[in-house]
Amino acid sequence: MQFLIATHNRKKQAEMQRILGPLGVEVLTAEMAGITLTDVEETGETFRENAYLKAHGGCLESGMPCIADDSGLCVDALGGAPGVRSARFAGEHGNDEANMQKLLDALRDTPDEQRTAAFVSAVCVCFPDGRTLEVEGRCSGKIGYEQRGDGGFGYDPLFMVGARSFAEFSSEEKDAVSHRGDGLRKLAKALPAYLNENKEL
Ligand code: IMP
Repeated sequence: MQFLIATHNRKKQAEMQRILGPLGVEVLTAEMAGITLTDVEETGETFRENAYLKAHGGCLESGMPCIADDSGLCVDALGGAPGVRSARFAGEHGNDEANMQKLLDALRDTPDEQRTAAFVSAVCVCFPDGRTLEVEGRCSGKIGYEQRGDGGFGYDPLFMVGARSFAEFSSEEKDAVSHRGDGLRKLAKALPAYLNENKEL
């Protein structure tokens, strides 16, 4: 079965393909499927709502089962911020340096034991028959005091799991504990039963 993925990010496509491939699912970006998808505005107040908006829009437009994820960083001392606004915390979408600096500034006076945080990933699959499957993955850690490591992306250099930042993990090590890895493994568990109920899809 082919799933459309509502992202242009080939890294996400490859990650989902690695985890869902063994279930007989082929994950295609719109470009790979040869179709054009309208970008959906992420107007939801939760990761779950945004993942649904993207998967639902992609499914309606393409007529294919569509998978989408929405993720971000929730910092306890900031009441869960930046949350769904992680990519544009400092204003401009996707400016990782500015986002990390704003986070360090916001936590300047926050002591070690209160620097707890979690990455969250909501994954949603919408099927053409109207059914929806949703899962959520999490990874707990702490916000460090300076950037460490040069791997990963986004807030990885500040997100400490044990003694290392995510930017100091290999991709395989990160997959094994990350929020997206957790969410996708939950999806891989739930999907076979769901697909068996939907053989005609
Ligand atoms: P999106 O779900 O790909 O739109 O991600 C939203 C934002 O959350 C990204 O731009 C990053 O700032 C942050 N984020 C999500 N997942 C990760 C991660 O694994 N590492 C670092 N930052 C992440």
